Amino acid sequence: MIGIFGGSFDPLHRGHINSMVTVANKLGLSQVVCIPAHQSPHRPMTEGPSAEQRLAMVQTGLKPLSHLITVDDREIRRGGLSYTVETLKSLREDYPEEELFLIMGMDQFLNFPQWKDFGQILELTHLVVTSRPDIELPLSLEDFPKALQALVEAFDGEEALLQNGHKILLVQLKDVLVSATEIRRRYRQNQPAAKLVTPEVDAFIREQGLYQADPSRVGDFEVFTKFCAQALERKNGINILGFDLRELQGPSEFTLVCSGTSTRHAISLSEEAVKSVKEEYGLWPLNIEGQREGRWVVIDYGSLIIHIFYDFVRLEYRLEELWREAPPIKDLLSSERRD
Ligand code: ATP
Repeated sequence: MIGIFGGSFDPLHRGHINSMVTVANKLGLSQVVCIPAHQSPHRPMTEGPSAEQRLAMVQTGLKPLSHLITVDDREIRRGGLSYTVETLKSLREDYPEEELFLIMGMDQFLNFPQWKDFGQILELTHLVVTSRPDIELPLSLEDFPKALQALVEAFDGEEALLQNGHKILLVQLKDVLVSATEIRRRYRQNQPAAKLVTPEVDAFIREQGLYQADPSRVGDFEVFTKFCAQALERKNGINILGFDLRELQGPSEFTLVCSGTSTRHAISLSEEAVKSVKEEYGLWPLNIEGQREGRWVVIDYGSLIIHIFYDFVRLEYRLEELWREAPPIKDLLSSERRD
């Protein structure tokens, strides 16, 4: 019985290790294969360590657990988007006699029907779904993603038996309150983060200088802010405002706020900003949140943070009021649009 644990591991943290070790103990797995993704199909592109650096970080971080966990580089060798179905097919060939258990957090499980060939994945493996801080495990079948409900023959609150004979097992973890997003932010802002990762991973991140913003690629952030504002303007972003926050205590030096007339418009505004910056500056954001829903998308370029709202949601939060004291950036938009 072999567990499989995939992810970006950007970086590997204590929540990941807790999940692998707890599941292995509860289910009596002989081994867990940990597989860093080359590029997860569900994640936007961001600046950060290369796939090879993430692999090396995972290898270093899991060395003390090598009796139980092996690190597998097949997704990184394969390159491109890392589809789990492809990985499982090749693992099936390597382990023809073993039962496979694909381990994932509840956040992933909720989106599982959007994964490529999820039906085929369920033919290749059992699933093990773990709790994640703030996301409860399903209590009844109605809490499963809709597309999976029809495949379940019986559910006893802990174990769902599928029509194909495979199982979905639910495992409650002791919460480890960490997320990779929060850890990256802490390293970038030089806040304490070492306790959230292992000492080996902390040393690796520091030695390699990971998660540090590199302002040299941007140069003048005020010019960069105007560049982004004009990219949003080209896609008909509405009520675009920019603030100089250098005199205020805040997470960034500059900020932009803009709205779209719908969630779809907000998503396309965010895509335009990211694409234009990549073309002009060769840079991906350090982080993006909310792009799938398009209600409030936050694009983090270090010294500039861009907030793109569906206008209706912007009215609810009135974010600009936070920056009442900050000077607005002059000549933000192209000359035709300035009033
Ligand atoms: P991010 O915070 O950037 O979303 P992540 O840690 O969720 O990062 P991955 O590295 O891709 O992203 O996660 C790999 C697996 O670990 C996923 O199945 C995810 O659900 C699970 N996981 C991540 N954090 C925790 C945690 N704190 N507790 C339990 N499982 C977790």
